[in-house]
Amino acid sequence: MSASRQAIKRHQTRLRQCARCPHMTGPPVTGNAVVSPVLLVGQAPGPKEIESRKPFAWTAGKTLFGWFSQIGVEENVFRAGVYMAAVCRCFPGKTPRGGDRVPSREEVDNCGQWLQAELRLLQPKLVLPVGKLAIQQFMPVTKLDEVIGKQYRVHLEKGTADIVPLPHPSGASPWHRVEPGKGLLQRALATSPLVSFSLVLGLWLVLNNIPGIRRMRQEGFRQSFLRKSLKDRRV
Ligand code: SF4
Repeated sequence: MSASRQAIKRHQTRLRQCARCPHMTGPPVTGNAVVSPVLLVGQAPGPKEIESRKPFAWTAGKTLFGWFSQIGVEENVFRAGVYMAAVCRCFPGKTPRGGDRVPSREEVDNCGQWLQAELRLLQPKLVLPVGKLAIQQFMPVTKLDEVIGKQYRVHLEKGTADIVPLPHPSGASPWHRVEPGKGLLQRALATSPLVSFSLVLGLWLVLNNIPGIRRMRQEGFRQSFLRKSLKDRRV
């Protein structure tokens, strides 16, 4: 049984007060407190995300939501229906060459405790790790080419989840704009868990606009997703 919205809100309140990593710039960024069977895991916020206190709020977000728009899920629907987490919730800072610093092992471990808590609370059925650092939290990966475009089943502390790895939408990496990355990304967006996700999220949006069915909306979204996901599964 997954968490209540109150439990998620309490978790996020504690998370936003975290200052465990001395070399990170906060405050920690969280997405909406949505009880969802779908969990997106980004890498770490940039300065614009820290400023707006919203994950994927800037250029990488535009690219990412453009991908989901291709499967019929617009940004506002995605933010309302998917729990958005990350490997690290604070900005790691810049390297001397101007790129974003990769979080240290210690920082990833520190922040991993928040992610593990979310996995326990939400018990997601679909996880979308975005970028190599996020994918590595669920499976070993050396090259993106080996994992993007495929779907996996992993055992979590509570239950199992489908994993559909995605590349990072950052403008700094051309991987997703040139072959073979471009084609592999399209293959990832066409995997059955993502197609099911887009269909059920569309239904959820329709129900969301009808007054008086809040409970049905929440339960229906979760249950329909699970049924559809099981039916369509082709691992
Ligand atoms: S990166 Fe994570 S663990 Fe480190 S201070 Fe920020 S929220 Fe806390």
